[in-house]
Amino acid sequence: KENWSGTVTKEELGRSTWTFLHTLAAQFPIRPTKQQQKDVKELMAIISRLYPCKTCAEHFKEILKTNPPKAKSGLDLVQWMCQVHNLVNKSLGKPQFRCEQAELRWGTFNCDGACDLHSRP
Ligand code: FAD
Repeated sequence: KENWSGTVTKEELGRSTWTFLHTLAAQFPIRPTKQQQKDVKELMAIISRLYPCKTCAEHFKEILKTNPPKAKSGLDLVQWMCQVHNLVNKSLGKPQFRCEQAELRWGTFNCDGACDLHSRP
């Protein structure tokens, strides 16, 4: 039987969302299409409006104003995601993550051979 308590915490939501965002960045193509670049920008704007923790969403919106998404290549996106996560870390008094380790932390993804949206070398 599945064991759940029914309460999703802000921390749990945050960890899950960062897992999604960093994995997306790590799987993003080296040469994305214009549409894929536009999709990333829209996704970030939507998260800043709909993220179900109001103070987090408002905080993220402020971060995006001075740090617009960099999605010209997957490598840019990985670094940008790390930088914005570090800005959130800083505001929460959490340690800074070394962004040169971002590919190592998030670059491997096991999707049973079906991660064929795009290939990374
Ligand atoms: P998390 O910060 O969730 O990180 C998860 C894992 O990611 C870490 O264990 C580490 O391995 C890795 N990691 C850490 N930093 C980086 C990085 N820079 N680059 C790559 N990988 C990294 N909480 C609030 O209380 N107030 C807020 O305003 C707020 N804003 C948020 C905005 C967004 C968009 C998101 C997604 C979350 C926000 N959160 C906020 C939640 C917060 O960021 C954390 O997710 C939560 O506090 C749990 O922290 P954690 O220490 O478990 O690690």
